[in-house]
Amino acid sequence: MLALRRWSVRHARGLNALYGIAERVIALLGPLVKRIGPARVEAVLHPLERATKQLVFDCLMCGQCVLSSTGMACPTNCAKQMRNGPCGGVRDGGYCEVKPEMRCVWVEAGDGGRRIAAGGALPLAEILPALPPIDHRRSERSSWIEVMCGKPTVAPIPNFSEDDVIAHPAGSLERACHSGRFVVTVEVAPPDSADPQALLARAAKFQGLVDAINITDGAGGNCHMSSVAASAILTTHGLTPVYQVACRDRNRIAVQGDILGAAALGVQNILCLTGDDVSQGDHPEAKPVFDLDAVSLLRIARGMCDRGVYASGRKLERAPSLFIGATANPFAPPYAERILNLEKKIDAGAQFIQTQFCFDLKLLEDFMREARRRELHRRARIIVGVGTLGSAKALKWMATHVPGVHVPEPLLARIAGAADQKAEAKRACIEMIQALAGIDGVAGVHVMGHKNEDVLAEIIAEAGVGRSALPLTEATSPLEETVA
Ligand code: SF4
Repeated sequence: MLALRRWSVRHARGLNALYGIAERVIALLGPLVKRIGPARVEAVLHPLERATKQLVFDCLMCGQCVLSSTGMACPTNCAKQMRNGPCGGVRDGGYCEVKPEMRCVWVEAGDGGRRIAAGGALPLAEILPALPPIDHRRSERSSWIEVMCGKPTVAPIPNFSEDDVIAHPAGSLERACHSGRFVVTVEVAPPDSADPQALLARAAKFQGLVDAINITDGAGGNCHMSSVAASAILTTHGLTPVYQVACRDRNRIAVQGDILGAAALGVQNILCLTGDDVSQGDHPEAKPVFDLDAVSLLRIARGMCDRGVYASGRKLERAPSLFIGATANPFAPPYAERILNLEKKIDAGAQFIQTQFCFDLKLLEDFMREARRRELHRRARIIVGVGTLGSAKALKWMATHVPGVHVPEPLLARIAGAADQKAEAKRACIEMIQALAGIDGVAGVHVMGHKNEDVLAEIIAEAGVGRSALPLTEATSPLEETVA
């Protein structure tokens, strides 16, 4: 099956053309289908469609065929059910984070898309457009019958007028991002405790030093205090959290309820992620949800804030006021598609971006060059992830076990060869922050390191980028108070 799937991507251009012709031909059968009755025709058509598409594409019959928008790689095979991939965890060589024996469906989609693009003058962004979330009611239904009846196989993504956007007061992170000064955020894992003091003790290390504190949402598929509750606790204590929300654990009903709840509790920033798979976490037997992917979640969150509507279109009594972020990973394959994925997230509503750990400046520079060429850094603030670990062994473990983390060999050798590995890793992190501060379009750094708060606070202070290191005029420059 895997071999046939790869064959269809290798022949994406021919198959796409064939698909186009087949669609036009079967559309001619519309009047006949109406006379016989669509349900009767579907009963005959469905087994035929299923057998054909299963054989050629390993299709799982989502009922909303998007093959011509995914380079002839069927996205139902994506382990996270993404409609807008790839995720940030793609392994070296383009293999799947969750099923390492198979190539990432979205790496294949990029390969197929490039083959289709070679046949015409279309840019890749048009060949691999943003796709709406799946409509689960259509699972196991025929897509061909939709074509015969003259209906689109996927619902179009709604286009809103920019005139009816609700204006919101900007929160402190948003104001900092718009001020033009170098922003610093830090990641804190919520505790395995029902005691808020356990969380506050970790977060207090960064009070007055950073612009915001990200609260992870079951990072690595591990269970901790909920990110919405932890974010609300920080807000109550005068800190500025970024509430991370992953698509792994909640469907679109639960996630929208949580977004409203977070905003009602005073949270002003959210970061939308697809999320790590459950297989590497402490509950590998759990059911992963992945009803949405990050692009769909961003669009929904932006619709709630800007238009005051749920994904269903139902009106909210009061829209949440949130600064909306997304993640990017310039350090994992497919490198060429990472910018396309970033652009989809910004188009969907991301106002700031936080990247995976940057240990490889060259890859980041390549990514930023392309981001500047497309002016993406003007549409969303790009905050680059940095961090440190105590030893070369710990760094190597992370590069091997944490999806999407890339640590170049020269850095590993430098730290392994140092007399004090912890001090050397810290020095390398400070050097990285200072180098990033000189790259056009980098709006700040996002400092990460699991249960390493003391060292992270030292790094921020010693790198000279913390809020307390800023001249008062810069830290408090007048900013725009509302966002359109
Ligand atoms: S690597 Fe991620 S995006 Fe690619 S197929 Fe696997 S789960 Fe899906």
